[in-house]
Amino acid sequence: MVQPLIFRKGLDLKDAVKGDLARDYHSDVVEQIRKNDFRFEDGRLVIHLAREFGFCYGVDRAVDYAYQARKRFADQRVFLTGEIIHNPHVNQKLRSAGILFLSDPGEPVPPLGAGDVVIIPAFGVTLHELARLQGLGCTLVDTTCGSVLNVWKNVTRYAREGFTAVIHGKVKHEETQATASQALKTPGGRYLVVLDRVEAGAVCDYIRGDGDRDAFMARFGKAVSEGFDPDRDLGHIGLANQTTMLMSESLEIAEMLRKAMVDRYGPDAMADRYRSFDTICSATQERQDAVLTLLDTEGIDLMLVVGGYNSSNTCNLARICADRVPTYHIADVDRLESPTRIRHRPVPPSDQPMAKLPETATDGWLPRVGPVRIGLTAGASTPNNIVGMVVERLAAFAATSPVG
Ligand code: SF4
Repeated sequence: MVQPLIFRKGLDLKDAVKGDLARDYHSDVVEQIRKNDFRFEDGRLVIHLAREFGFCYGVDRAVDYAYQARKRFADQRVFLTGEIIHNPHVNQKLRSAGILFLSDPGEPVPPLGAGDVVIIPAFGVTLHELARLQGLGCTLVDTTCGSVLNVWKNVTRYAREGFTAVIHGKVKHEETQATASQALKTPGGRYLVVLDRVEAGAVCDYIRGDGDRDAFMARFGKAVSEGFDPDRDLGHIGLANQTTMLMSESLEIAEMLRKAMVDRYGPDAMADRYRSFDTICSATQERQDAVLTLLDTEGIDLMLVVGGYNSSNTCNLARICADRVPTYHIADVDRLESPTRIRHRPVPPSDQPMAKLPETATDGWLPRVGPVRIGLTAGASTPNNIVGMVVERLAAFAATSPVG
């Protein structure tokens, strides 16, 4: 069989797509704010932009490769396995460029085969999906981020050494599914996905011998590898994360599980029974740190966090902010309906379970008179032009009401 082509380092068209990328995602407003010490001032309005925000290195690269793929294979069908990143604006741009989404109902018609090109997004795909695409003879453009590959390397090692990978992540998230599949590369490899502290607490109870097996499996049955046996498989555990989780929560979960293992097996057994390593990517960490600095130093009245509602790293930025000030997570600039009305997704504070609350509208979100300091950040999948449009709309809103 002819081996399918896999491009992992771009397609030698970086310069050729530079202009298209700038046209679609660059913002002069944002560049001006950067130059002005991340501050924008207009009348009564001051906006403080977080010093790290928006596209991360992994997203930058994935979007760049997608544009390169479209150009290089202009006469072939080009697919994405699903959303390239969790931002509706970027996905729409790619659709408009003629890239098809395998996740869309009815795609592909006719079926995939040799001659088709498939782009693998920054969060990767499961081993099963990769094998399927290779088996069909598709040309692959693999944009899986290096930070995700680093997690995979550790999860693979856990499996080889007989440890169950306990993954802090969202079980349905593409990255977590891909990471979990890495545990299965080794015969007998196992995984368990925990969403938050509450779920980690239930796992800790079981490790300490306080859990009920049926209740455990009823709760985690969809978040474990096939044939998972909590009595056998929680004896040796290694921690990993979806790279975009809340870092403070990941660290806390790792510590909760370590303590439970110490309680069960004693401190001397830890070297043989417990592993952990830091798998939050540096871009996620920098964005979370930057927003904390902003909240600590700038006397912010309210925060706006811009990014897709299904973007894990954006949701976690919003959770950090919601602990401290009124916070509005908006998917796009159109959610800023007027100086009095905003549509946004409510954000639970970081010590509450993650919840997918429906979008809601709030009236009176922007103080009508007097100075207002708005903190602004954006998730790793939000392009700068959206951030720039948000700034321009805020400036227009603030101008419509008196200084007071
Ligand atoms: S958030 Fe981190 S792991 Fe995910 S694409 Fe960006 S840099 Fe890579």
